[in-house]
Amino acid sequence: MMEVLQVGIDDTDSKRGMCTTYVGAVTLDRLRERGIEVEGFPKLIRLNPMWPHKTRGNCAVSFTVKVPAPSVPLVKRIVLDTVGSLAEMEVETTNPGVVFYPSPEIPKELREYTRRVIQEVVELEEAESLAREIGAEVHKFKLGRGVIGALAAIGHTLERDFTYELLAYRVRENWGKPRRVDPSSVLEMDRLTYPQTFDNVDRESGEIRITPHTPCPVLYGIRGESPEVLLRAHRLLRTLEPVERIVIYKTNQGTDEHLRRCRVSEIRPYTSVILEGRVAGDPRVIPGGHVIFTLEDETGRVDCAAYEPTRRFREVVKALRRGDRVRVCGGVREEPGIPRTINLEKLSVLELAPLLKRRNPLCPRCGKSLKSEGRGKGYSCKRCGAHFPQAKPELLPVERKVERGTFEVPPRCRRHLAKPLVREVHREY
Ligand code: ATP
Repeated sequence: MMEVLQVGIDDTDSKRGMCTTYVGAVTLDRLRERGIEVEGFPKLIRLNPMWPHKTRGNCAVSFTVKVPAPSVPLVKRIVLDTVGSLAEMEVETTNPGVVFYPSPEIPKELREYTRRVIQEVVELEEAESLAREIGAEVHKFKLGRGVIGALAAIGHTLERDFTYELLAYRVRENWGKPRRVDPSSVLEMDRLTYPQTFDNVDRESGEIRITPHTPCPVLYGIRGESPEVLLRAHRLLRTLEPVERIVIYKTNQGTDEHLRRCRVSEIRPYTSVILEGRVAGDPRVIPGGHVIFTLEDETGRVDCAAYEPTRRFREVVKALRRGDRVRVCGGVREEPGIPRTINLEKLSVLELAPLLKRRNPLCPRCGKSLKSEGRGKGYSCKRCGAHFPQAKPELLPVERKVERGTFEVPPRCRRHLAKPLVREVHREY
């Protein structure tokens, strides 16, 4: 008799090191050494990017195995031993969780729970009680907060929109040292595989984006639309240090799943939103070079910010004017002492307000610009001396420095879940 077991893992890393994707990759290799293969691709699920207690990218992993019933305890032991030995247990904020779910079906309530872990905030008690209800087995290390993400990773079926990421890991003695990947090979790989792979390079700054800057075991991660293109891209790279192992995850990265359409009055802290409304006043530049404007809909007003590192995107925001109709996507920032602000990820300019500027009329006789004689006293021409008591100033359209369209922050400012515009085939904002 074969049995299906879905496994979820989360909260194994700290700012000092480790990465839950690595714990997943090592677990998969250890299972493989015992002849146990996963069904399909393992999953890398990004959770709520606005959740304040995440370490970095708020990710959890899961995978499914189908094994003879007597092998189930072996699978569980390998998973728990790997998490126990690799997780950063000595760091207070690392509280791993492992969930085993003995069924191939994902019940509706688990799907709905996963959606909430990606878009909202969920309590550990709720995760544990749902696990009990659906018959999932929960293992908590220390406080076990990782159970929230581990269960959510199992609950994501990745059916609608998804991407893949190929991760290459470093040998342990290189962890924390500068990463050695030939940058020219990354540019070449990007040239040959973009947009089937994306976010390899930040074109504006020339920065290589596939190598992280943290002391974690990841050497690089390539994101793309299919496993085949990722393997091709991986082969195109010249890596100047040993690669310990690679893994390809199927993932919800680059799908915009974190965003929820709402009105200003419905904005909640720790969420990411899509809002539509009018620009309530001309944008202002604050110290640090950040650009802020106020968006208004029929229910209220909220500030929207483009931060300095977003460069060209910030220039688009700066060119908005009062009355423009826009749609914005972004995370809700709430900090003591500053007004609630939407941290912009994307901006659609839907309608440009017609802007007019006043100009003195031209002399109908000689074409020179007339001078005003004062309020209600008309205009006169300094060249030919003619007087025009009834003349009125002319209203001319102002040329706008922004066009209708959708704009996004550059890759180096992008959230893992944010959908790059280049992937924008089916959905409109
Ligand atoms: P990395 O991406 O480097 O693996 P991380 O950013 O995923 O690290 P974790 O160390 O996994 O951070 O910590 C996130 C913790 O927050 C986990 O315990 C997870 O279960 C929990 N969590 C994630 N999303 C939510 C949410 N929406 N509500 C409540 N808890 C959450």
